[in-house]
Amino acid sequence: MPEFDIIRRYFQEKTHRNDIVRIGIGDDAAVLNIQTDTNLVVAVDTLVAGVHFPLNTTPHDIGFKALAVNLSDLAAMGATPCWMTLALTLPQADELWLSEFSKGLFVLADKFHVALVGGDTTQGPLTISIQVGGVVTKDKALLRSGAKPGDVILVTGMLGDAARGLQLLQQQDSDIPDEYLAQLNRPSPRIAAGQQLLDVATACIDISDGLYSDLSHITTASGVGAIIELEQLPLSPTLRDDAITQSEKYRLALGGGDDYELCFTVSESQLAATQTRLADIEVPCAVIGCITDGNSVMLHSSEGSEITTDTLGYQHFT
Ligand code: ADP
Ligand code: MG
Repeated sequence: MPEFDIIRRYFQEKTHRNDIVRIGIGDDAAVLNIQTDTNLVVAVDTLVAGVHFPLNTTPHDIGFKALAVNLSDLAAMGATPCWMTLALTLPQADELWLSEFSKGLFVLADKFHVALVGGDTTQGPLTISIQVGGVVTKDKALLRSGAKPGDVILVTGMLGDAARGLQLLQQQDSDIPDEYLAQLNRPSPRIAAGQQLLDVATACIDISDGLYSDLSHITTASGVGAIIELEQLPLSPTLRDDAITQSEKYRLALGGGDDYELCFTVSESQLAATQTRLADIEVPCAVIGCITDGNSVMLHSSEGSEITTDTLGYQHFT
């Protein structure tokens, strides 16, 4: 199937359209309407087969996840997503693959009213690069840099399920709980939560490389330290019931990554209001520690659990 037919059939004809799009797919570049009282928030993330997802991941899940990880970055900024571009490198033009990929992509795009406005299609090893754009009221975006000593640290949702799912896949386990696989393959970007945090969170980040590593980005950017209370880490009922040791569960929650939850800080005076805002949109959140003076992220356990921090978190090129 030729390139232009692929673009038209699986992408141009399927995309949601919204007011921001003046010219979408089909010209040399997209032309978008912008407003002067907003900031444009832009992020790009690439998924490489075998690195960011196992080779046997379904095309539907690949399409879904490629967008989900990008929307998660916009969620962490408190932005409202509007558009995306898609650079797709495919080994071959397999129509069944393209059809399923496009379905997975647009399930999520339609949910958040995101228009596909352009992209690029090339042949080579399977790689999906999506760029997303969103808007936020001028100067209101949530940043990593505003956490203050005394602030409370919270996370949305549950941690560690995706990492446990990946671990079991790598062990070729044949009986992996659905909760783990759903979290690994179809994470829900916390867009609504990010928007509720505007004007209350002092800092925010999405958890892609693992809580420990991502919270460290907040402490570095803010020039502060942090304490995480291990017993407060939110673990799903499935992970709590899992046969692995408690310290292995903490390791997954701290360093597993792929959670795509938000980690954020609020002043103590805003804590109750923040919890109410998130409860109103039915997003679970847990207090997991506090911001301190200093410059490191410390782990604290009332039961004296031992976790070493030097191997927590995912990094490329190490
Ligand atoms: P150019 O040669 O100007 O780069 P292309 O032939 O690459 O244009 O693309 C033609 C049109 O199709 C452009 O509007 C481009 O943005 C869009 N496009 C190409 N590939 C994709 C894709 N995978 N998803 C969405 N739009 C695409
Ligand atoms: Mg091109």
